[in-house]
Amino acid sequence: PALQPSPESEAELAFEGALRPKSLGEFVGQPKVRGQLQLLLRAAAMQNRAPDHILLAGPPGLGKTTLAMIVAHESGRPLRMSSGPAIQHAGDLAAVLSSLVPGEVLFIDEIHRMARAAEEMLYLAMEDFRIDIMVGKGAGATSIPLDLAPFTLVGATTRSGMLPNPLRDRFGFTAHLEFYETDELQQVLERAAHLLELDIDPVALREIAGRSRGTPRIANRLLRRVRDYALVHGTNAGHDAVDAALELYDVDAVGLDRLDRAVMLAILERFDGGPVGLGTLAVSVGEEADTIESVVEPFLVRIGLLGRTPRGRIATHAAWQHFGVTPRAPQNALW
Ligand code: ATP
Repeated sequence: PALQPSPESEAELAFEGALRPKSLGEFVGQPKVRGQLQLLLRAAAMQNRAPDHILLAGPPGLGKTTLAMIVAHESGRPLRMSSGPAIQHAGDLAAVLSSLVPGEVLFIDEIHRMARAAEEMLYLAMEDFRIDIMVGKGAGATSIPLDLAPFTLVGATTRSGMLPNPLRDRFGFTAHLEFYETDELQQVLERAAHLLELDIDPVALREIAGRSRGTPRIANRLLRRVRDYALVHGTNAGHDAVDAALELYDVDAVGLDRLDRAVMLAILERFDGGPVGLGTLAVSVGEEADTIESVVEPFLVRIGLLGRTPRGRIATHAAWQHFGVTPRAPQNALW
């Protein structure tokens, strides 16, 4: 029973599912990527072939999984979902690839975390729709070639820099997802509120949009918390409910969460504004370096609080101001 999803998490999953846009037309923002994908899908449809392989790169929650589903849906093809961490041996990948039906879209999330040997198998599969399966060991080992059904690989990564070049080069197209503007997040929230039949003040939606770290997943999550707050307290889902709910969940005025603040305060207070190396910073806030680099930093850089330099991470002038901290060693700050 402990493994059964609770009614709450079922409700939350249904909530996510209901809000996922199903077509490019419904997908808000990322105009560049939408245009690029549209062209690629149309060209493939006109030639009646599987679309080229697509790599989706960007921080978590910006819509990579959603876009993979849209690629399958818009091209009328089935979708198979897998992930890098689930592919720890070449055999894991061989099993997936050899069972694809012709034209299937294969989505591999966190593709940078796939095993090396599987990566090498993937090169050949992507290029020639063929793999070589090794059987036996040592001198008696032989490889058996196996033809695959043509497929479209959609890879997602938060760390495109970690992909080996030969793999990156085999994608026909790489989409770089950017953080969303507040206006775009407001549209995401308006759509969500409409689908969920929530009665919520547009001013409150605007406020949530501005505090969602440029990320639709966070926007939808905050909307849920504000809805909960209004429900429990029997109030309107208005500006006051947004303020109270977001304060309860430790989201500040510009959308920074607890970990964002811990990272910035460590740089400002413990390292006098930096520069400080990523490893040291990660240890000092008790997080993995990978999480700091791919989840926390991109947004801090984007809003101009953090700089990445060859000598390490530094706090900007805006960061000293935002946190109201006085530099002890002002020569280290970016003035
Ligand atoms: P991760 O890599 O962490 O899985 P992701 O980038 O794949 O994240 P998604 O799961 O695709 O993110 O999106 C998260 C949620 O945000 C989805 O539930 C979806 O409803 C919503 N969402 C994402 N992008 C958009 C968009 N452009 N318009 C509307 N809703 C969106």
